[in-house]
Amino acid sequence: MDILIVGAGLAGASTAYHLARLSSRRVTIVDKEATPGEHSSGRNAAFIREYAQDQATQSITTEGAAFLRLGTLAEYHRCGSVLLGLGDDDVADHFPPARGHGRWCPDDGTLDVAALLQAYLAGQDVRLDTEVLQRRRQGDKFHVRTNRETFTCNTLVNATGAWAGTFGNLPLTPMTRHLFITRPMNDIDPDWPFVWDIENGLYFRPESGGLLLGPCDETPAEPGDYTEDPAMLENLGQKLLDLQPKLSDVSIMSGWAGQRTFAPDRRFVIGFDQREQSLFHVAALGGHGVTASFAVGKMAAKLLLGGPHESSSLFTPDRFG
Ligand SMILES: Cc1cc2nc3c(=O)[nH]c(=O)nc-3n(C[C@H](O)[C@H](O)[C@H](O)COP(=O)(O)OP(=O)(O)OC[C@H]3O[C@@H](n4cnc5c(N)ncnc54)[C@H](O)[C@@H]3O)c2cc1C
Repeated sequence: MDILIVGAGLAGASTAYHLARLSSRRVTIVDKEATPGEHSSGRNAAFIREYAQDQATQSITTEGAAFLRLGTLAEYHRCGSVLLGLGDDDVADHFPPARGHGRWCPDDGTLDVAALLQAYLAGQDVRLDTEVLQRRRQGDKFHVRTNRETFTCNTLVNATGAWAGTFGNLPLTPMTRHLFITRPMNDIDPDWPFVWDIENGLYFRPESGGLLLGPCDETPAEPGDYTEDPAMLENLGQKLLDLQPKLSDVSIMSGWAGQRTFAPDRRFVIGFDQREQSLFHVAALGGHGVTASFAVGKMAAKLLLGGPHESSSLFTPDRFG
């Protein structure tokens, strides 16, 4: 086999998708879970938001969002977003019970993330329930031992999400974030936008007749530890009371925790590892991994095939020394 991708989340799946379109390399994807999207790629807010605080990151989210908005791979619902604190638009013009001013971004929207992941993986050689336990370099090959079989490949891709730091010996930190869903409510219009109060750390958007809300928490955690912290629900309640009083009497129906994984500079990590020959990383997608996935996979595939990419130096793993 030419390339073994470890991780069938959005990072690994999109990389495989682009490799299949750009080359005839033999690619296999392994994932330790029985279904793809068990971790971050199945625990997010499903929002395609182009804005990123870092310009280099935004060049990738812009490219990724532009493609996903076409709805070619998964259904896209264009509802816009209001980024509170970044502009003068009155949020109530778009989301009547909300208050504050911000930048109106009409093209943002939500996407069916499960469908997107399936579309990236369609036709690929995906081995589930297959956990990489160890790798050994011999000559120009990797021998990769899993709980099922040992694979031999030329290039190994670390797309292991929250495990990418441990797997690839990189300084990455998984951070827990909670999301909550309310019971259906009477006056919610499903076409209202996503509202993100960047400074105060609060976001919400319509979901299933109610709202999806998050207190924007970031707590460092062990990979795969989704222990829910009851304080986060209190935190959300207090923020709603202080910032969005008309939404403060919502009734929460369910909630969950997920993990977003960051590099110290909060930029993606995409590129070959100079310390370990033919090890490649597609990791640290932070809070942009859905929006950026198409462009991230495209960049990763181009670099894996030996081609140049104009932004590669901004995301290289070399930057950690
Ligand atoms: C609460 C929350 C809200 C978010 N909201 C948004 C949003 O609205 N918009 C947006 O763009 N992004 C959002 N994100 C970010 C986005 O979900 C992530 O950036 C993205 O899913 C990361 O994908 P990934 O493939 O790197 O990781 P994962 O999806 O975690 O995939 C990694 C895979 O690697 C596998 N793996 C790990 N170790 C091994 C091993 N040793 N052997 C085999 N397999 C292994 C795991 O099983 C897993 O399936 C959010 C994230 C969270 C947590």
